[in-house]
Amino acid sequence: MASITMNNLVKKYDDGFPAVNDVSIDVADGEFLILVGPSGCGKSTLLRMVVGLEDITSGDLLIDGERVNEKEPRQRNLSMVFQNYALYPFLTVYENIAFPLRLAKGKFSEKEIDEKVRHASELLDLDDHLERKPGNLSGGQRQRVAMGRAIVRDAEAFLFDEPLSNLDAKLRGQMRTEIAQLQRRLGITSLYVTHDQTEAMTLGDRVAVLKKGRLQQIASPRELYEQP
Ligand code: ADP
Ligand code: ADP
Repeated sequence: MASITMNNLVKKYDDGFPAVNDVSIDVADGEFLILVGPSGCGKSTLLRMVVGLEDITSGDLLIDGERVNEKEPRQRNLSMVFQNYALYPFLTVYENIAFPLRLAKGKFSEKEIDEKVRHASELLDLDDHLERKPGNLSGGQRQRVAMGRAIVRDAEAFLFDEPLSNLDAKLRGQMRTEIAQLQRRLGITSLYVTHDQTEAMTLGDRVAVLKKGRLQQIASPRELYEQP
């Protein structure tokens, strides 16, 4: 787990217009921070800058106090949980979770892999589903498999990019509850991007509101509710 510090982050794409404009946010160790705002406000760009998929034009990004602007995504060890979960349909749940460990060839013994997969699947309540394939799982279970992958890697933080936006309203509600509970249980630092006000107000410890690339306000849901 880790803190994430964004100091005056700026992102200019080729057209020179700042998609992210002087954003400073401190995400505490274990905090669940929501990034919310209308389409085009710079949420995804900011998330991609943090994970290392987008160069930082100016400003500093720190993980646990260490500047990581030039570090490769892999070295930052943050785990992106995508909308479509990016699971391998032909692999079992077990093998999907074990995948990042097998990628690090030779680094983990079979015994270590097995321990890590068991540990993650117990945390995520997936231990009864290890031999199933993703196609036979519910949306919630698939989401948990994706998170299991992040857990076995000992990722410093989870980054969610609108993970629920393709789901119908009912499932979205269930998943919202599930993600909130999981995050509290795991206590892992999380950045969660959404344009959905309900998600923003129910999920996180704090909500950062972006508008046209700028941080408009940052506060707990309660503080936001109580504003005139
Ligand atoms: P959001 O995630 O809030 O919808 P984005 O971060 O995707 O916003 O986009 C922020 C701004 O940056 C928008 O004006 C968008 O058009 C622009 N933008 C995003 N990606 C690129 C890109 N690869 N090249 C140029 N402009 C981009
Ligand atoms: P059992 O029926 O005794 O649970 P399994 O065949 O399920 O036996 O598992 C045997 C060993 O292989 C256990 O250590 C288990 O954790 C591990 N294992 C289970 N499924 C897989 C898998 N798909 N790939 C690799 N190892 C697995």
